[in-house]
Amino acid sequence: MRIKRRKSKVVKIGKVAIGGGNPIAIQSMVKCATSDIRGVVKQIRELELLGCAIVRVAVKDLRDARAIAKIKAKIKIPLVADIHFDRRLALEAIACGADKIRLNPGNIYRKQDVVEIAQAAKRRKIAIRVGLNSGSLPGGSLKGRRPAESMVKSALDYLKIIESCNFYDIVISLKASNIFDTIEAYRLISRRCDYPLHLGITASGSFFSGIVKSSIGIGCLLLEGIGDTIRTSLTEPPHTEVETAKNILAALGLGAFGPEVISCPTCGRCEVDLVRLVNDFQRKLNASGRRLNPNLKIALMGCVVNGPGEAAAADMGVAFGKKSGLYFKRGKAVKKVSFSKCIPVLLKEMGG
Ligand code: SF4
Repeated sequence: MRIKRRKSKVVKIGKVAIGGGNPIAIQSMVKCATSDIRGVVKQIRELELLGCAIVRVAVKDLRDARAIAKIKAKIKIPLVADIHFDRRLALEAIACGADKIRLNPGNIYRKQDVVEIAQAAKRRKIAIRVGLNSGSLPGGSLKGRRPAESMVKSALDYLKIIESCNFYDIVISLKASNIFDTIEAYRLISRRCDYPLHLGITASGSFFSGIVKSSIGIGCLLLEGIGDTIRTSLTEPPHTEVETAKNILAALGLGAFGPEVISCPTCGRCEVDLVRLVNDFQRKLNASGRRLNPNLKIALMGCVVNGPGEAAAADMGVAFGKKSGLYFKRGKAVKKVSFSKCIPVLLKEMGG
């Protein structure tokens, strides 16, 4: 099945084009103080290697805003400044070379402030993300409305102000911590404008909770063709956010970031330590970076019940029996392989 993506306008964030059918860009956010330039650059470089396309930093004071120029000189991917409360921080971040400004209509709402920021962004030819969060909606917008409707109304009101400056390099996000509100909000806004949409479930929690909520919420919208860039907001290190985003996109056929591993959950029929083997293999694949063909499918299966079928259907695979397995390549059983030689054999076959 191919997902039919919503037609959206193309907006450039530095060198990365989002919207208009461009690949869905993965974003993340640095989790240390922006004035800690060394720490920020270290995190961003790790994210670059993992495949993060756009990264955001929190700008809570002028020191943070001024750090942007120094950080930008040391990284390759576009840098977004996350601004709340104070228009001067947006203006300083723009002057210091931010590739996009995220504004929260819940706390920067005076028309003259928004106009001033939009005009500065227009002069520098950078984009603005109108970033609504259910936790910080503009006062009064909740009255009598569902959270999704409130977010959409606030976003549309804000767009009018920005568009009054003849500024259209806009991205929109409408994030709630509740999956249903988030999905409803994005569905509604996707029918009201063609700006690219940045998807995410805000404050989704730590590892399991965050990954599950983000996968369901973001995944549901992507399946409907909605969404041009994604961030999984996890109470985890940023590399976990990027790994999660990559897995969501890969599962939906919207990106390939490395060979796909298919493995069974194991049960009482399995006579090898498949859990250890699969984890070791995945670690080795991750360490191989982008050298390996991302379109390969490799099956590692615990027994002969489903093993031969899955291994034969993949590009290569092993169906284990007792201590050894049968190695399949492009549908054909080729040879026996011992448990301890399985990973080296597969990596060699893959050219890794
Ligand atoms: S393939 Fe075999 S070992 Fe794996 S879950 Fe199925 S029955 Fe169990």
